[in-house]
Amino acid sequence: MTQQDLLAVASEFGNPVYVYDTHKIEEQYKRLDNAFKKVKKVNIYYAVKALSNISVLKYLNSLGAGMDTVSIQEVRLAKEAGVPSEKIIFTPNGVSISEIETAAQLGVQINIDNLTILEQFGTKHPVVPVCIRINPHVMAGGNTNISVGHIDSKFGISIHQLPHIKRIVENTGMNINGIHMHTGSDILDIDVFLYASEILFRMVKNFNRLEFIDFGSGFKVPYKEGDIETNVEEMGEKLSNRFNEFCAEYGKELTLVFEPGKFLVSEAGKFLVQVNVIKQTTSTVFAQVDSGFNHLIRPVLYGSQHQIENISNPNGRERFYSVVGYICESDTFANNRRIAELSEGDILSFSNAGAYCFSMASNYNSRYRPVEVLWHNNKAHLIRKRESFEDLIKNQVAIEI
Ligand SMILES: *Cc1c(COP(=O)(O)O)cnc(C)c1O
Repeated sequence: MTQQDLLAVASEFGNPVYVYDTHKIEEQYKRLDNAFKKVKKVNIYYAVKALSNISVLKYLNSLGAGMDTVSIQEVRLAKEAGVPSEKIIFTPNGVSISEIETAAQLGVQINIDNLTILEQFGTKHPVVPVCIRINPHVMAGGNTNISVGHIDSKFGISIHQLPHIKRIVENTGMNINGIHMHTGSDILDIDVFLYASEILFRMVKNFNRLEFIDFGSGFKVPYKEGDIETNVEEMGEKLSNRFNEFCAEYGKELTLVFEPGKFLVSEAGKFLVQVNVIKQTTSTVFAQVDSGFNHLIRPVLYGSQHQIENISNPNGRERFYSVVGYICESDTFANNRRIAELSEGDILSFSNAGAYCFSMASNYNSRYRPVEVLWHNNKAHLIRKRESFEDLIKNQVAIEI
C-alpha cells in the first residue's frame, strides 16, 4: 500500500477513513505461526475487540485464525463471519452467568475468570468444558492502564486461590479443559513472560483433563521510532522448547493457544484525515484535522504516539506542528511533531491505526464515524459505509413535549 494508493483511497471514499492492508495482517499471522512451528498443536485466536469489522474477521478466518471474543455480540460477529464455534473462545470479564450460558449454547469455548460464576456454572452444567482464567500476578510492561496481571487487577482468578478452584471442581465434577492467562498488553521482556508461564505450568499440573494452555497476548508492536517490539521469534523458540518439555512431563500433547489483537492488525492500519485549518498562536502551529478523539482515542486515553505523515506533500520542508482535532474538547493527537510542511487540504496518514482505533470510535459531537476500507489484492474495498444523519437518530425517541 503506497502513499499514492492511500491518496487514491481518500479521494475515492472521502475522509476521515481507516484503511487496512491484508498483506500486512498475513505477514504478522505467518510470523507468529512460524515462531511456534516446533509445537505440534498451536491455535492463534485473533482478539476481535482490536478491530471487529466482519470483513477483517473473514480474512483472518481464511488465514486459519480462530477468534477470541469478550462479549456475546463478538461471538455472534465471529459466527457471522463464518468462523466455526469450535474455533471461538469466549473470554469475558465480569459478565452475567446468562451471557456465559448463551455462549455455551452456541458451542464456543467458555473461559471463566471468577470463583462465583465458576461454582454456579459448574453446578448447573458440569459436562460443559470450561477454561479458567488465572491471574499469575506478573506485571508485563509498566503502564497500569494496560497491565492486568498485578495484584489488584480485576482480571482472572488469583493463583493464590488454587485450593478454592480445586474444591469447586471436585464438588461440581466439572471438566476443566484449559488454563488461560493474559498478563497485560505489552510483553517487553521475554523472561518476565517465561516466568509467568512457569507459574502457569505449575498450576496446570493440578488439572488432569486439560486440552490446551492459553498464553493470552501482549505482543508489543512499535509505534514510534526507537520503540521496542516483542521479539516473537526469540519468544517462540524459548517458549516452544519449554512447552514441549512440559507436555512430556504432563504426559499429553496439549495445544498452545495465543490471542493476539494488536500484533496482527495494528501496523496494517492507516487513518487518513484532512487538514482543515492551520492556526498560528504565540507559541505553536496547530494543524486542525477533520477528526478527534471520537475517531481515534488512543493518544488521549493511553498517550499513544501514532506516527503522522503528510502524504499530500511528503517531501516538503519539515516543521513542528501540534496536530489536534475538530471536536469541542481537548483532542490532541500529537504535540510538537516534525511533519513535512502542511497546507490546508493536505491528507495526513496516521500509522498503527489497525488496533483499538475504529473499534473504540464513537459519535461524540454527533459526528459520523469514519468509513473503513480493506486494501486486498491491490484493490480498495469499502467495508464500512459512511454513516448518515438517519443512523445518528434512528434509536432516539423524540417524545411529545
Ligand atoms: C484484549 C485481549 C487480548 C488482545 O490483546 P492485544 O494486546 O491486542 O494483543 C487478548 N486476550 C484477551 C483476554 C484480551 O482481553
